[in-house]
Amino acid sequence: YDDRDGKIWMDGKLVEWRDAKVHILTHALHYASSVFEGERCYNGKIFKGHEHSHRLRRSAELLDMEIPYSAEEIDVAKDAVLKANGWDNAYVRAIAWRGSGEDMGVAAKRNPVRLAVAAWEWGNYYGDAKMKGAKLDIAKWRRPDPATIPSEAKAAGLYMICTMSKHAAEAKGCSDAMMFDYRGYVAEATGANIFFVKDGEVHTPKPDCFLNGITRQTVIQMLKDMQIKVHERHIMPEELEGFEQCWLTGTAAEVTPVGRIGTYNFEVGDLTKRVALEYEKLVRS
Ligand code: PMP
Repeated sequence: YDDRDGKIWMDGKLVEWRDAKVHILTHALHYASSVFEGERCYNGKIFKGHEHSHRLRRSAELLDMEIPYSAEEIDVAKDAVLKANGWDNAYVRAIAWRGSGEDMGVAAKRNPVRLAVAAWEWGNYYGDAKMKGAKLDIAKWRRPDPATIPSEAKAAGLYMICTMSKHAAEAKGCSDAMMFDYRGYVAEATGANIFFVKDGEVHTPKPDCFLNGITRQTVIQMLKDMQIKVHERHIMPEELEGFEQCWLTGTAAEVTPVGRIGTYNFEVGDLTKRVALEYEKLVRS
């Protein structure tokens, strides 16, 4: 995967895919000083690309880093990568991190903040599960208290527990894991937000300690436009039993129906299908 043809944008210029490397003393590798974005380009246009560029800069700011490129310049870099690789439909990964330099310790103000943009063709994040309903495990790790870590940031450090949770889920034959938060409320999956349906109304956890996804916000607006009531609130684990439908949202996940979480079952119902279809239409419009 490293040694292949293609172009990646790094610190202002396009480089060969196989040459897009960093030094082993990169600060981010040791201390997780890294923030990133996941975006999708549909028919030549990145869905909410500019919003993602802003979120990347905001995530960096929350980690006390300043990306030396404006949101507009980041937009240009992303388009350049897609064009150089000849892709109209692809997943786009922008990443900013503190590089190697004079500072080897925790504090590293003297090391440069770097930026790279890669893209690749990536189909359904949940593969076959996509329309049948994904099976989710319940993660042992919890989303941390925002007083512990800047949970609003899309920062690499927040994904350590996600990788562990997803590995544990896959070992049990599940596609992903649902995580509770530090208080025990339902939070999200390891890379996607979660929604539930009961009696024709939608319930989704309040994003007060995890990423308020751009897809999540898009889907909430879509539901409101459909005159469907959306409750953003704290959801207790006991409530899982009473929900009829469930889906995940995320740039990679798009709208993915969930068939099971632990021992609780959900149907891939009409509203879930409708939301998935409307989202597909919207991103390609
Ligand atoms: N939560 C987590 C942990 C994620 O990694 C993602 C994917 N970026 C999301 C939620 C959904 O965010 P978005 O809709 O902006 O892709």
